[in-house]
Amino acid sequence: MLDPESLRTAYVEIAGGEPEGLWFGPGRVNLIGEHTDYNDGFVLPFALEKKAVVAAGRRSDDLLVMYSLELQERVEVPLAGLEPGTGGWSGYLAGVVWALQVSGHTVGPATLVLTSDVPLGAGLSSSAAIECAVVAAMCDLYDLDIEPMDRAKIARLAENSYVGAPTGLLDQAASTLCEEDFGLFLDCRSLEAVHVPLPMAEQGFEMLVLDTKTPHSHVDGEYGARRRSCEEAAAILGIPALRDVTDLDDALSRLDDEVLRKRVRHVVSENSRTLEAYEVAREGRLAELAPLLDASHASMRDDYEITVDTVDLAVDTARAAGALGARMTGGGFGGCIIALCRTGAGDSIAGRIADAFNEAGHGRPEWFTATPAEGAGRLS
Ligand code: ADP
Ligand code: MG
Repeated sequence: MLDPESLRTAYVEIAGGEPEGLWFGPGRVNLIGEHTDYNDGFVLPFALEKKAVVAAGRRSDDLLVMYSLELQERVEVPLAGLEPGTGGWSGYLAGVVWALQVSGHTVGPATLVLTSDVPLGAGLSSSAAIECAVVAAMCDLYDLDIEPMDRAKIARLAENSYVGAPTGLLDQAASTLCEEDFGLFLDCRSLEAVHVPLPMAEQGFEMLVLDTKTPHSHVDGEYGARRRSCEEAAAILGIPALRDVTDLDDALSRLDDEVLRKRVRHVVSENSRTLEAYEVAREGRLAELAPLLDASHASMRDDYEITVDTVDLAVDTARAAGALGARMTGGGFGGCIIALCRTGAGDSIAGRIADAFNEAGHGRPEWFTATPAEGAGRLS
């Protein structure tokens, strides 16, 4: 649980006075649309109640002073000396200030004290949560009038160019633009974003988010291999990206390699499922998301081959224990699953998964239940 009081106390100790405010950026889950982003396709994330919060205030010297409550570590850098690639956790904060500078915005010195309850490295985007909280804080502190999508782009620039993680815009767009009880349907080619209603609580649903705690192995190599397969297939098909496949059967008939055919089938069918999820949600038929989640999981398991035993066990057990639909979410090879449940059922379904993990000799998973929460902004 986040504790705004400890955050204030830490801020006062570091800055010698009260913060000017508290700003937050949420973590996110991707409801559907996996490995579609780099194929110019569609994604549909929603923001979580779990968030990064920064207590922030301007300073009278020339420093950026950063502190993490979780790590109990302080880092300070002169504002004029921000260097991409300096690494470490503070890069997610300093990188945003740098990204604002190189995007032509005038920012000054600040104290930024961070706390977060977004699980780290679980694929729930603890990094974007921090970045988007810092963008919100700096915009308010230094009167910057930057519209939401541009804020997301600045946060992404921080992650890509300062931290050095080559990610798409999904995480930062979700953390910045999402609204309570809505998902964000994002076209990764045009970057057009549409808020789509997901009134889960109102319709009697909650989403179980369960971290399998499987150590990710070979993720970078496998991710690169999937990307290369998609590029290769698009080149053979003579199209800019797999987003442009209009007739799946025809595309498959033009590919000789069985592996490429499977990869293409996942990407193209996942794009269709994401579009269908968008339609279903727009029409308020949330229960109909369930079979789409199931089909997405089967496609990731059989065609894209990015699931692992623990993830498959968690998804199968969730369904057997009464979840309406379930899938792995995130890049794969471990990480989290989501399961659409009736309100109040998530915890007991997760308990059944924990039992199944125990019987199979796996470690204990961690979980929480969620409904779509609001995007970055001022907390107080
Ligand atoms: P994800 O975004 O999936 O959680 P990343 O590897 O992109 O995983 O980002 C995790 C990194 O974010 C951590 O290694 C750490 O540097 C930083 N981070 C996240 N939460 C905190 C925190 N509370 N304090 C300091 N750094 C944090
Ligand atoms: Mg991240």
